[in-house]
Amino acid sequence: MMSVRSLAGACLSAFAALGAFAVPASAQNYPTRTITMIVPFAAGGPTDVISRIVTAHMAQTLGQSIVIENVVGAGGTTATTRAARAANDGYTLVTGHMGTHAASVPLYPKLAYHPEKDFEPVALLAGTPILILARKDFPPKDLKEFVAYVRANADKVNAAHAGIGSVSHASCELLNSILDVKPVGVPFNGTGPAMNALVAGQVDYMCDQIVNAVPQINAGTIKAYAVATAERNPSLPNVPTTAEAGLPAFQAQAWNAIFAPKGTSPAIIATLNAAAIKALDDENVRKRLLELGSVIPAPTHRTPEALATLVKSEIAKWTPVLKPAS
Ligand code: ASP
Repeated sequence: MMSVRSLAGACLSAFAALGAFAVPASAQNYPTRTITMIVPFAAGGPTDVISRIVTAHMAQTLGQSIVIENVVGAGGTTATTRAARAANDGYTLVTGHMGTHAASVPLYPKLAYHPEKDFEPVALLAGTPILILARKDFPPKDLKEFVAYVRANADKVNAAHAGIGSVSHASCELLNSILDVKPVGVPFNGTGPAMNALVAGQVDYMCDQIVNAVPQINAGTIKAYAVATAERNPSLPNVPTTAEAGLPAFQAQAWNAIFAPKGTSPAIIATLNAAAIKALDDENVRKRLLELGSVIPAPTHRTPEALATLVKSEIAKWTPVLKPAS
């Protein structure tokens, strides 16, 4: 006969075994209500546009709506801090990017979150090549002239960006350090509003994720000097690469990805990742992302583990570039 003590022990280990395999009820039924996707920049910018395209499809897969909440400020770090502190129940997510989850680390010594320690990576959504853009009546005709002009007028020109640590800020810091200039920075709450200012001729130039720029370039409302990637982008076949246009040292591609607060259950992460992958495989989603110049991640780059690796390597890449500028 089993003693009381060993019976209790057997029950305990049975519970422990159950606990190890049981998925919490909340994760099993997930999602049962609306999910909030925090977008750290203004509506109409690349992060917002990519988020809306992908989450509209994810919502169909998940059977619940996904509401975009644009939370602006401090180069995207205000929103990302809020997301890091949100309940880790899968109902608050954030679309981060190369700025919020890499460039912000060297630029904000007191950053209230750490991209690796305070988030669960969910899925990479898109690569976004960086373009050197200018208002349409900015005098330089091509990239060589741009370089000479900006160097000669370094104390007069200004560059729009989406706040310290944003992609537009970090990538133009790289460009400006290559050119050895320090133009006046003009911050906006996102490159959506910054693009409006560029179109209106209120600012001189900007380094922006391609998504924002393709419609404007095609409409002739702004100038594009070059795309900072090894190959031309199929959405802008007439825009040369920086190497072709004479500035091979300037190479920059950003990205957008979904993150959940640390401790979100693996089952929820897997559900969200599967929904994101399904969206990236959908013909209409692909068409819209490609039309805007995005690079759709290859299957091996779509896992949470691949995103974790990307974040680590991007922090390592941008820290030495941005540290002296901070
Ligand atoms: N491109 C971002 C946006 O979505 C801002 C940035 O990081 O430059 O507005």
